[in-house]
Amino acid sequence: MSQNDAPNPQGFGKAQTWVDRTGGPDLADLAPRRWHDRGACNGRSPSLWLDDYAQPAFSFAVAICRTCPVQRTCLAAALVFDDAYGIYGGTTTRQRATLARRLRKGDTLGQVLDDALRYNTSRMRVTKRKRRTSRTRGAA
Ligand code: SF4
Repeated sequence: MSQNDAPNPQGFGKAQTWVDRTGGPDLADLAPRRWHDRGACNGRSPSLWLDDYAQPAFSFAVAICRTCPVQRTCLAAALVFDDAYGIYGGTTTRQRATLARRLRKGDTLGQVLDDALRYNTSRMRVTKRKRRTSRTRGAA
């Protein structure tokens, strides 16, 4: 069995052989024992991440993901092991489908992760700036 055929240590499937993992974490580093305990969701109800049927682009779960020290690894694992449903690494099912399409077109895992996480962070900054501006205006 090659490394690409290795069962997902999370138990959700096999590594997707078509993913170019250049610039992303090694397959071994995606094993949950290496990062799960450090996840910001650790100890919280999994239903927040799995049962959010509407999955808005921004939710309580996504907000927690954005503070998570292992967000990049979590998103990489979800893409490499094709964990289709739920919120992983601050992305919804629909957002990851878009990222998976980029991987299928040949973008590397590193490129896709960088773009996805940069986008998430810049949106958060814009949201904070808007809130601050509207509060300042309201006070005047
Ligand atoms: S990125 Fe989100 S889902 Fe992944 S480990 Fe961190 S808090 Fe949990």
